[in-house]
Parts: sequence; C-alpha cells; structure tokens
Amino acid sequence: GTPLAILGAIGRAARGGSIIKGGRYLESLSTVDTVVLDKTGTVTYGTPRIARIAAAASGERELLRIAASVEQRSEHPLASAIVARAREDGIALAEPDDFSYVPGRGIRAIVEGEAVFVGNAAFFAYHALAVPVDGTDPGATTVLVARGTDALGTIAIADVVRDEAAGAIAALASMGIRTVLLTGDVQRVAEATGRALGVDEIIAEMLPEQKSAYVAELVQKGRTVAMVGDGINDAPALAAATVGVAMGSGTDVARESADVVLLGNDLARFVETIRIARRTRAIVM
Ligand code: ADP
Ligand code: MG
Repeated sequence: GTPLAILGAIGRAARGGSIIKGGRYLESLSTVDTVVLDKTGTVTYGTPRIARIAAAASGERELLRIAASVEQRSEHPLASAIVARAREDGIALAEPDDFSYVPGRGIRAIVEGEAVFVGNAAFFAYHALAVPVDGTDPGATTVLVARGTDALGTIAIADVVRDEAAGAIAALASMGIRTVLLTGDVQRVAEATGRALGVDEIIAEMLPEQKSAYVAELVQKGRTVAMVGDGINDAPALAAATVGVAMGSGTDVARESADVVLLGNDLARFVETIRIARRTRAIVM
C-alpha cells in the first residue's frame, strides 16, 4: 500500500489546489531539477486583449468579421480575444467551412466561399501569402489575416504575465531548479516575457512536436523535468516530461495528459507542491 505520509502529502497538495494523480508523481516532483513552462495561458493569464488593429483597404470591421468568423471555432486564447472584440463591436459572424487548424501556426477555413487564413508569419510563408501591413507592437503577438491572396490586415494581441509568475520562478531558482520558457510564439515576444520573468532559458517558435522533442531530449540527458502547460499544443510535451503539469483552466486534452493539475492556475502553488514533495521524500522515500 501507499505509505500514509504520501497520502497525507497528496491530500495537503490537493487542499491547496494541486491535484496529484498518484504517489509516483509526488516522488518525481521531489527530484525535479528542471521546470519547462509554456508561455500563453501558463505564465500569462491567457486572456489577452487586442492592443492594435492595422487594416488594409477593406477596413477594420471586415478584418475583425473575417478573423472572428474563423476563430469562433478555436479554443486558443488568441481566438477568444478576437471573438470577444467582434462581439463588443456588434459584428455578426459567418459560419466557417472546411476548418483546418495547424497547432502553433494558424487556421485555414472557407468563409462565404473564399479561403481565409488566420495565423502567424510562418503560416503565411508556408501558404506563400503576402504579409499584411505591419501592426507589430513590442511584446504583442501579431495575428495575420488574409482572404484568398488579399491581405486584410493584422491584429496585435497582448497578454499579461501572471502576478505570481516571476515570484514562482525566483523561488524555483532558489531551490536550485532550472527554468525554461518554451513557446510557439515568436522570438521577440518570448524574449520580452522571458526577461520579465527571469527564466534561465528562452526557446521560441516551437511547434507542438518540437516542444515534446525538446522535453524528451532533456529527460534522455538524465534531467528530471516538470513541464507546465495549458494547451492542446502542450499535450505531447506534458506526456514526454517526467511530470506533466496542466493549468486547471487549460484544455481537456492538457488536463488528461498531465500527472498534476493546478486547479487555481497558481504557479506559486506548484512551487509549494514541489516543497511538499521534497519534505515527504525526506521522511519516507
Ligand atoms: P504558446 O506556446 O505560447 O502557448 P501556441 O503554440 O499555442 O503558443 O501558438 C503559437 C503561435 O501560433 C501563436 O503565437 C500564434 O502566432 C499562432 N496561432 C496559434 N493558434 C492560433 C489561432 N487560433 N489563431 C491565430 N494564430 C494562432
Ligand atoms: Mg499555451
């Protein structure tokens, strides 16, 4: 049977909002030496707001209408920001057909009989689309929108770093744990966020399979890795880590792939859970 001290520790962690799915994950947590963190929705609130819109000739409302019509089918935090803004502006949306999402890149769909592309620069380059007028803001993620081969414009979306994130990362450092920010977002945004947080390493522009390959490589090198994420795009990396940790507000796929779920999305609670695991190890393991 599971020693009482471990059951007690799992219970204590659970009361703090950290659900550990088994005693062996508590044991792994006690020896974690590397914490890999996803950006959007993990170290940021993931409820970003539109910072700036740069529309081509067809105008801002048409840009928002087309982008939101496609994004209403997406669970991504960027999608929520675009759809929320269209609703606020009282814009009626169209139903997209042939919706295809490339995680970490963007969406191609048919709207009113025409192909629509909503995504990042890599996605536009892949489809050989011209990059729309630049609406880039430092620290903001730029979503590009095109209909057919027409650039409709860009939507710059800014996200806010969680209040407790920098403190949690400093606490991990003081415990001798290395931190890595691992994101699908572009280098510029990743660096702005990573520097504000004080992480040891910043790795940007990673597709979901690259995220999991990176984590798998660390594990292969003998590191004990906790990966913290929220998205569908993080699920393979959560599975590849020694301990996968999902944000409670994350997608179902992330919560199912994880060994630990942070109900209150509180990164400080995650640090506390590692402390509980270390103390328990000192007693029984
Ligand atoms: P993170 O790793 O920071 O959580 P993702 O891997 O989910 O970010 O996304 C990486 C990038 O892919 C985003 O910054 C964005 O440029 C693009 N992208 C992903 N999903 C969407 C979407 N639904 N609409 C537009 N762009 C998207
Ligand atoms: Mg994310």
